[in-house]
Amino acid sequence: MAHTLTLIFIGLLSFSTMIRFWLGKRQISFVQAHRAEVPAAFSENIKLEAHQKAADYSSAKTKLGLAEMLVQALLLLILTIGGGLQWIDTLWAGILPNQEIIRGALVICSALLVSSIIDLPFDYYKTFVIDAQFGFNKMTVKMFFTDMVKHAFVGILLGAPILFAALWLMQGAGELWWLYLWVVWAVYNIVMHAVYPTFIAPLFNKFTPLADESLKTRIESLLSKCGFKSQGLFVMDGSIRSSHGNAYFTGFGNSKRVVFFDTLLERLNTEEIEAVLAHELGHFKHRHVIKLIVMIFVMSLLGLALLGWLINQLWFFQGLGVTTPSNHMALLLFMLVSPVFLFVIRPFMAYYSRQNEFEADDYAAKNASAKHLVEALVKLYRDNASTLTPDPFHSAFYDSHPPASIRISKLAAYTTP
Ligand SMILES: [Zn+2]
Repeated sequence: MAHTLTLIFIGLLSFSTMIRFWLGKRQISFVQAHRAEVPAAFSENIKLEAHQKAADYSSAKTKLGLAEMLVQALLLLILTIGGGLQWIDTLWAGILPNQEIIRGALVICSALLVSSIIDLPFDYYKTFVIDAQFGFNKMTVKMFFTDMVKHAFVGILLGAPILFAALWLMQGAGELWWLYLWVVWAVYNIVMHAVYPTFIAPLFNKFTPLADESLKTRIESLLSKCGFKSQGLFVMDGSIRSSHGNAYFTGFGNSKRVVFFDTLLERLNTEEIEAVLAHELGHFKHRHVIKLIVMIFVMSLLGLALLGWLINQLWFFQGLGVTTPSNHMALLLFMLVSPVFLFVIRPFMAYYSRQNEFEADDYAAKNASAKHLVEALVKLYRDNASTLTPDPFHSAFYDSHPPASIRISKLAAYTTP
């Protein structure tokens, strides 16, 4: 049985790596093949130069993504069947032979640390080589590393309670530990969502109340027309890190906030901002966020139930390169290996997300203006150097948002009777 699991794992990992490599290659050649000409629908608003910049930017990002994916797959093999996790576990067992929960937490942190260190040069290259070359990066090296330390600190601070709760329940809560853990995790998640905008996001960015009175009045009337209560409109200093623009909602219930990137407000006019906001409101009205959270909760319940069973199967450990089974190794293996098995559902999730985008666009077209949303989207695609000509296969597999041309042609149908 252990041997079978090893074979299935290697088989699936190779299969997913090959598919992803093939998709990435397709994306690059498709984008490059359409580099010479701006698609007709955009030719009025996007210059050839901007179109070519988008093509080169997306090719460079895809190439880097492929390299990172290969390195991550190799690392996963080394950690699991290569014996890396077992080595880390043995090392900590020598240092802390008795405190099982603390040792377990340290083993898990060590493995996650190795994986983030491997990611670091890729993040660095993306920011200081690719983004810098295309004029998007606004970060200094100092800020990059300060951010990294802050992220690590927040990650430990937020992750430690749930990690200790997990190890403690696994040790002492009996056969149904996975169910209790799920309840703890679900509650913790909801609390985190509620406190994130007020306590965590401000560690990385400054949020100032929207000052522009005329814009504020327009937005507030749109919000009340759509029956949406928020705890204020904020502008985030996104421009300190990157010149990409965006707008979003955060929080739950009464702690909901509307956040605009300063870069977005700079570039769009009032009508366009209104249309973008109406799109975001569409996500709320169609309960996309809640549905996604429910889906994640259901999936994590199924996952934990599965882990509750796997933890008693010796082949689960042996098949993935671990010779000394323990609670923390089960948890760690599950965290590292489940994405390989979930690879197959990725295109379905992406499809679902694109359907949600259409629904939100539809809401924006009905409650604000399809014409202004199109104008805003064109500006955002142009300024973020997003490709207008993604490979259809690559897009179907990965993209959470529909390709520009499809999205815009659907919106155009609202404006031409
Ligand atoms: Zn959206």
